[in-house]
Amino acid sequence: MPICWFPPSEFSPNAHSSKLSLPSSPSTEFLPKIDKTGSWLAYLGRIKTAEFLLRIGIIQSDLDALCKFCNESPESIDHLLYFCQPVWDTWTNILSWWGMQWAPPATFASLLHWWKTGIVKPKHKIIWESIPFAVIWTVWNTRNKLVFENKTVDWMETTDLIKARVAFWVTSNKDGSVYTMDDIMFRLHSIMKSG
Ligand SMILES: [Zn+2]
Repeated sequence: MPICWFPPSEFSPNAHSSKLSLPSSPSTEFLPKIDKTGSWLAYLGRIKTAEFLLRIGIIQSDLDALCKFCNESPESIDHLLYFCQPVWDTWTNILSWWGMQWAPPATFASLLHWWKTGIVKPKHKIIWESIPFAVIWTVWNTRNKLVFENKTVDWMETTDLIKARVAFWVTSNKDGSVYTMDDIMFRLHSIMKSG
């Protein structure tokens, strides 16, 4: 069942839309629908990576199409949101936060599918389902701050921001009101173990 989300104020529609090439109304369009992988993939198709811009001729140079995090690989969705080393490490850290080690799926699409079909207790599902959304949102915003504001990336800070966003979204939802921000950010492993 889709979860009803209440995006925090930082996600105001006008704050980012001019830079991000993302849907202009996060409050209505950025609803996690991870129970429908197709919806996720459609949403991701709207993220205009450098590789996409090169393909359609907006940018001209292969160099400009490189990932801004590593400057080594073309900035595709798969690379930017999954395979780029610091992003990969971030996913690993987030899974460790959950108390899980993983056998990484082969593609970003299969990661989302794996997430969707993951066996999680019903009461924990609200947290679990918000995680990919928080990672994607945060990595994309981090990338844009680097590209448009030349802001250095602190990946530890980025990981903490993902946890904070998950905590905020979950505790803002009536189904997650049994948790506190601290529960989710700092005691998540205990919550999982306590059932
Ligand atoms: Zn990269």
